[in-house]
Amino acid sequence: MAEKANEDSPETRLARLVLALRSQGVSDPGVLNAIETTPREVFTPDLFKARAFEDSALPIACGQTISQPYIVGLMTQALKLGPRARVLEIGTGSGYQTTILSKLSRLVYTVERYRTLMREAEARFKALGLTNVITRFGDGGEGWPEQAPFDRIMVTAAASDEPKALLSQLKPNGILVAPIGKGPVQSLRRYTGDGKGGFTVEALIDVRFVPLLDGVAKEL
Ligand code: SAH
Repeated sequence: MAEKANEDSPETRLARLVLALRSQGVSDPGVLNAIETTPREVFTPDLFKARAFEDSALPIACGQTISQPYIVGLMTQALKLGPRARVLEIGTGSGYQTTILSKLSRLVYTVERYRTLMREAEARFKALGLTNVITRFGDGGEGWPEQAPFDRIMVTAAASDEPKALLSQLKPNGILVAPIGKGPVQSLRRYTGDGKGGFTVEALIDVRFVPLLDGVAKEL
């Protein structure tokens, strides 16, 4: 069965993946379309290309991971994007989530603490012809003060606590989605601004993300 599935074209395998995500509750047509039109095999290392269309997280360079498509779909949907949104993403990694965000918003600012991952992701954005992604090598925990405030913020690494610096860079009615927690399993939280400087906080599902680390990586 698995072998037979591998003989199908990328389009067929992507369509099958999208059906699976839909059955799990990813219902936003824009988000499903963005996933269906993004070649995930471009973002996975050679060793794992055959598994690029599976609904699972996979290893990438620097000991990091490309997120599971279901989680990418759910987090993107939770952000309630619109075509005018300026979005900040923390944790570029492979650039897969960045690419999905770029198809659903006006501008995506993305920050990564590994130079190697940043360079590889930049090459992919160029190859895919994305013109609305702005990258930065740095500590995303500090956000991107020069470009703040943002309409939306997505954090794709687990913050140990409420990400106060990032919340301070959100517009009054903005939305931030982030995994929060210190252990191997974290709570995916959505912070929605109330327009008066406060937030409502929702716990969406349990997730497993690599930790948000302080500072930039010294190694490549
Ligand atoms: N969205 C990515 C998932 C990457 S995993 C994808 O779709 O592939 C999380 C990423 O967050 C890793 O690349 C890790 O290096 C990065 N990261 C962790 N702490 C960070 C920080 N403080 N600033 C910027 N990036 C960080």
